[in-house]
Amino acid sequence: METLSTLAYLVSSICFILALRGLSGPDTAQRGVTYGIAGMAIAIITTLFMVESWGLIILGVLIGGTIGTVIAKKIEMTALPQLVAAFHSLVGLAAVFVAASAFYNPEAFSIGFENDIHTSSLVELSLGLAIGAITFTGSIIAFGKLQGIVSGKPVTYPSQHAINAGLGGVIIFLIVMLCATQSPFFFWALVLFSLLIGVLIIIPIGGADMPVIVSMLNSYSGWAAAGIGFTLQNNLLIITGALVGSSGAILSYIMCKAMNRSFISVILGGLGGETAGAAHDYGDRQAKIGSAEDAAFIMKNASKVIIVPGYGMAVAQAQHVVKELADTLKKEGVEVSYAIHPVAGRMPGHMNVLLAEANVPYDDVHELEDINRDFAQADVAYVIGANDITNPAAKNDTTSPIYGMPILDVERAKTVLFVKRSMGSGYAGIENPLFYADNTYMLLDDAKKMTENIVKALD
Ligand code: NDP
Repeated sequence: METLSTLAYLVSSICFILALRGLSGPDTAQRGVTYGIAGMAIAIITTLFMVESWGLIILGVLIGGTIGTVIAKKIEMTALPQLVAAFHSLVGLAAVFVAASAFYNPEAFSIGFENDIHTSSLVELSLGLAIGAITFTGSIIAFGKLQGIVSGKPVTYPSQHAINAGLGGVIIFLIVMLCATQSPFFFWALVLFSLLIGVLIIIPIGGADMPVIVSMLNSYSGWAAAGIGFTLQNNLLIITGALVGSSGAILSYIMCKAMNRSFISVILGGLGGETAGAAHDYGDRQAKIGSAEDAAFIMKNASKVIIVPGYGMAVAQAQHVVKELADTLKKEGVEVSYAIHPVAGRMPGHMNVLLAEANVPYDDVHELEDINRDFAQADVAYVIGANDITNPAAKNDTTSPIYGMPILDVERAKTVLFVKRSMGSGYAGIENPLFYADNTYMLLDDAKKMTENIVKALD
């Protein structure tokens, strides 16, 4: 039986690796999801065959499954990052609970006896405990920031880095003491300090750096799961946790590179968000306000249009009508393409998912580094619900919190059409000087409504 279950777990792990591979490209993503479902099904069935009593498991699956289904059905696409953060917090909490169960009942977990737990098991348990507790509170703060319950601005205070480094030292000390003494005092002290540091490392992260934090917490939750896997002596959980942990770490690294941030500086915090000098004086400059008819006229006479989707397109669910606009323009002989910024929207790949849902051909969709130089030849940049990812302050204002982040050079197009509801700021909370540029027209309306009106005007 053990050999069979090991084999089944191996097949399941391979399915998860193939799932990750599939999910790395839009045209193979569906296959990736199928592999993921197959891997999980094999994992669950195998685990059920390995335990004696199914009662509690089925009860857990029913309760968890019902809550999960209700939440998944209700959640708006734009609120997915918050949901992911909330789910990560549960993984962290689960790691803390498993560690506590194993600590107080080591015989049940075959890791030793009361007051005599194997040292190696204590090391695994305390690492899983610390990472789990950090993930728990860190994810709750990230959830609060993304949901707008906690301020998105960086919370900083004097000697912040020194205090965090000191607390990191305390955690290492507590892990050593817990392994040496097996004392419940050190166990709960470790929980307490880890919960505290989870809060302290996330509160200084602000504005545009949150995407990195979401993927970093994803990575933490994977390592916490791997830690539980060691305690439960479950190879599949170790492998799956390591896959989530390492893929989350790689994604964080890729996102840091895309945003021109050093990983360490993001972790140390205090970046992003509004700064004291963020309000700029634009003198008497007035933004030019355009209408759907103006936009239709300009686009009809263009030969090259680049569409730049952002968070607002997701909020308005405008992807289908954007595709309709592109099709109408193509029929008029206009060349249309889409420019995707790596952190557009509120989750990695957010825009790609929406455009794929609207059946936009993959060949029309281009990443920042592939399309940025094309803006200079474009007649129109149609910026729909995007803001921070176009803000030239990232290039020329050293005081800006987004300084250094690569942006889409939409201002190089002959005309920039900005669709949004107001002159307000985006996620990073900073003004966008592009709204006042000579070649910009602001189309102030809901993204879907405005695009529908442009399509009507084109007809
Ligand atoms: P932004 O948040 O910068 O701007 C979105 C704009 O959309 C807003 O200024 C808003 O203006 C407008 N908007 C909102 N609703 C509508 C609507 N119904 N119709 C029309 N416009 C609307 O988004 P970007 O995509 O440009 O940039 C993403 C930002 O989010 C970056 O700062 C990034 O760091 C951050 N982020 C990204 C994550 C990721 O993983 N991709 C995760 C977390 C944060 P108005 O209110 O005036 O309409």
